[in-house]
Amino acid sequence: MKKNYRILLEAMLALAIISSLSITALSQSQTTKADLILLNGTVYTVDEKVNWDKQPQQAIAIAGKKIAYVGNSSGSKEYIGPKTRIVDLKGKMVLPGFIEAHMHPSGAAFLMAGVSLLNATTSEGYLKLIKDYALENPNASVIRGFGWNHPAFGPNGPTKELLDSVVPDKPVILVALDGHSAWVNSKALEMAGITNKTLDPSGGTIERDSKGNPSGTLREKSAIDPVVSKLPPLSEVEISQGLMRILGMAKEFGITTATDSGVFDEKTMDAYSNLDKEGKLDVRIRGEQVLDPGLGVKQIPALVAERNNYSSGLAQMKTAKLFMDGVVEGHTALLLEPYIDRPGFKSSPVWKADVFNDTVTALDKAGFQIEVHAVGDGAVRMVLDAYQRAMEKNGKRDSRHKIAHNVLVSPQDLPRFKTLGVIPVMQPNWFYYDSTFEKNNLAFLGPERAEHMMPMKSLIDSGAIVAIGTDFPVSDYPTMNPLDEIKTGVTRLPLPPDSNITKPYWPEERVDLKTVIECATINGAYVSFMENETGSLEVGKLADLIVIDRDLFKAPVQDINKAEVLTTILEGREVYGAFKENETVSLGAGKLSKAYENLFKDVAKEDVEQTDGLLAELDGGGAIFENNTQKIPS
Ligand SMILES: [Zn+2]
Repeated sequence: MKKNYRILLEAMLALAIISSLSITALSQSQTTKADLILLNGTVYTVDEKVNWDKQPQQAIAIAGKKIAYVGNSSGSKEYIGPKTRIVDLKGKMVLPGFIEAHMHPSGAAFLMAGVSLLNATTSEGYLKLIKDYALENPNASVIRGFGWNHPAFGPNGPTKELLDSVVPDKPVILVALDGHSAWVNSKALEMAGITNKTLDPSGGTIERDSKGNPSGTLREKSAIDPVVSKLPPLSEVEISQGLMRILGMAKEFGITTATDSGVFDEKTMDAYSNLDKEGKLDVRIRGEQVLDPGLGVKQIPALVAERNNYSSGLAQMKTAKLFMDGVVEGHTALLLEPYIDRPGFKSSPVWKADVFNDTVTALDKAGFQIEVHAVGDGAVRMVLDAYQRAMEKNGKRDSRHKIAHNVLVSPQDLPRFKTLGVIPVMQPNWFYYDSTFEKNNLAFLGPERAEHMMPMKSLIDSGAIVAIGTDFPVSDYPTMNPLDEIKTGVTRLPLPPDSNITKPYWPEERVDLKTVIECATINGAYVSFMENETGSLEVGKLADLIVIDRDLFKAPVQDINKAEVLTTILEGREVYGAFKENETVSLGAGKLSKAYENLFKDVAKEDVEQTDGLLAELDGGGAIFENNTQKIPS
């Protein structure tokens, strides 16, 4: 009797499997054929339903703007139509496009507008471009530019005399390709008041000639800032130029969505929107309108109008941005306890407390998402208090308010992020000891606080949804590369390649690679209220994804940021590194070539081997992250 029962059960089970198979087959035959199939890769989906360790995915099919299929390579065959382009990834990695939760493209545009030097490689070539640009723009009060590269000059960089020979009568400032140096002429040095008596600023260098006079190259932000601070505002044309160059870099780094965490005027959003209308916007933009602390609630109707102007398309602006404090190194971070080098001094908030609370409550009521810059633990607490007050007055809603930076967070306040649903937006590319640590952090905060800044893992462990962003170009070592912050999030070791510091900063706060990738993808999507549309590779979501040259999980941690983004796809559009004709095959009217036929067949067999290999590796070394951390000197 028992046995019969089992046979019956097995028969029922078999029937269920057969019918589910035929349903699958039916749904596949009705599926739109894909425009693009990427197969035989390492597809990391960031889909919580997929167990990556047990079930690595190899293929992805894109139809129109969306993902039609994710799975093994042989399964993707069903999606091939006559026009489908098929790419053999040969093991390369696919990830969701990076979602930058905090950067300043419009701020960076300020430095990247003007003459482009990208098409020259020699000093003569640069000078010709600069001279021509100056002649074409006779009314410009200063000449800006971007894109010269170091190999064209000696170790001390280009000289002011070279620039003076083509533009002697107005200031010229040209930012290097890497963003870390600026080439200026005599008028620019004069405008900034930089002379032979000016000392090198902290963290920066003023290159000098044999007589000690500034020679025309300024190294690092602190040395360049005195010139930048004197520059006039950009024209509309210059804003578009700058944005195009910034976003051109962003898509090369695999960024498919970027938050502009400081939009100061409508000219910027107009520029984004116009680029979108012209089909030239290759990175989705989420703008944040900056509030004036002097105007309080009075400015909200104007903000609502602006929000309505930019509420659709790739460039939208639905978030309000406020600044609560400054930075530790300027003694402007608002602390709970005094700075140790200034007894009794905790700094003061940018906003008056009551005006801030009323404004946050009114913004929340008007349906805004709010982001507040808070570096000190005093500022973080004031913001959490204000969010809590707004929730108590307006009722709980899906607000997803944010706090950017969170350099110091009182342990008491850690659990409040989760309780209040507040998102910490962290900058892992700051997580390391640098040459200014002792002089600024240690001297100002004392060891207890200085050694415990930026508690990313504690915030994650407390249950908060953490997103990340580079804050480009604001950091001391500016980088826009998400792989840089992913690396430092995992290692908390210095980012500048010339650093000789090998000690990780607060190593207990290192985060495993998978989690940091989530922070850079699906959590970023959550921050932008887009977690159902992007941030992971799932059927039905927008095809926002990247192909990189290596498997990040197999690369040594110190090489994570050496990985190169080969292709960036936004909503199914190959916006960077489009696959070339000789990299793709199409079925056309005929059949797949033998080589590709075999690939589909072979992959099914290789899938098993590949999976086994990966699992063996995991079994051998425990979690991959543990393996990695063992390599970090501590
Ligand atoms: Zn910022």
